[in-house]
Amino acid sequence: MTATLPQIPVAKPLLDEMEVEAVRRVVLSGWVTQGPEVAAFENEFAAFVEADHACAVSNCTTALHLALKAIGVGPGDEVITVSHTFVATANAIRYCGGIPVFVDIEVDGFNIDPDLILAEITPRTKAILCVHQLGMPCDLAKIVEIGRNSGIPVIEDAACATGSEILWEGQWQKIGRPRGDIACFSFHPRKVVTTGDGGMLTTANAEYDRKFRLWRQHGMSVPDTVRHGSRQVIYEGYPELGYNYRMTDLQAAMGRVQLTRLPALVSRRRHLAELYRQELRDIPWLDVPIEPVWARSNWQSYCVKLPPWLDQRGTMQALLDRGISTRRGIMNIHREGAYADKASHRVAVGQLHRSEAAQEGAIILPLFAQMTDDEVLFVAEALRDMCVDRQAAIA
Ligand SMILES: *Cc1c(COP(=O)(O)O)cnc(C)c1O
Repeated sequence: MTATLPQIPVAKPLLDEMEVEAVRRVVLSGWVTQGPEVAAFENEFAAFVEADHACAVSNCTTALHLALKAIGVGPGDEVITVSHTFVATANAIRYCGGIPVFVDIEVDGFNIDPDLILAEITPRTKAILCVHQLGMPCDLAKIVEIGRNSGIPVIEDAACATGSEILWEGQWQKIGRPRGDIACFSFHPRKVVTTGDGGMLTTANAEYDRKFRLWRQHGMSVPDTVRHGSRQVIYEGYPELGYNYRMTDLQAAMGRVQLTRLPALVSRRRHLAELYRQELRDIPWLDVPIEPVWARSNWQSYCVKLPPWLDQRGTMQALLDRGISTRRGIMNIHREGAYADKASHRVAVGQLHRSEAAQEGAIILPLFAQMTDDEVLFVAEALRDMCVDRQAAIA
């Protein structure tokens, strides 16, 4: 018996001959690791988000590690963040010996509730690490203000938010333009643009940028590109502990192509999200995601909250039976085995009820640029049927 694959996957990267051609060019150039393509990708990314500096790394997890290290997070330091996020957000804090302090998410939406941050600030608080979950900008204006008033740096986990925008000082601007201290992006295939694996750090701080560049390449005083291009013999030094967090030129070449596609990808995703909203809004029991007036999501994911009487796993299975692939709501880090040791983190006063409810009662619907309007209607129709049938069974 052969398994039938779902006709509608939950996500799908858009890659074609353009990426193949870019990678082919790099292969044939003979320089395949961090080099001229990485430098070009950094410049183009910095221009796109309007950041002073952009530094490419191997993925967003390593970007977060370097960001936290640059602002000086060390053993015993606390970093305020959310549990309702991918595990990498908090893991990066632990790589520095830091303690993630988990606060709950907002009532409507899946981002950190900024009103809960202040109560968690202690003399040990070293940073606020906010997440633009599923590509929806979190309330940066409030968070940056809390950070500024308390003298605490703000790092943005913008893993999902390449191409998302925020209304800032009366203008729509890209996430990644420096507002907090450092923003970190991911180019994993599950995000809106991909390099296979890859990450980027943006900042206005030249000293942070210098450190990222040192640490991503073993703490090497002279990058190999410089030695390679020199007519003089150069001996490099290793003044500090570094890492191998490089992006390759193969990945950067792909990233440059993906970046040219980004505006069209985001605009297509915004169209599909709007179609979902229109189709689902007359189902009174479903909670569809809404953009705050100051946010424009790239709709990396479209996540809806189910009514309490609609079982999450049952709904996902019933959709899968119709060929529609979904995912459950975002995980809660504090519930995972890697965080079973209570000393590894701190849970905020008031607990994480909304985070837990979102994990248990929300599902992520298919959304990707190649998805057709008809496919959105098909998914919405299936979900409507399920709500109506279940309602009828209860009544
Ligand atoms: C995907 C993701 C990460 C990790 O990104 P990688 O590039 O895979 O390391 C971190 N944080 C969030 C919120 C993510 O969604």
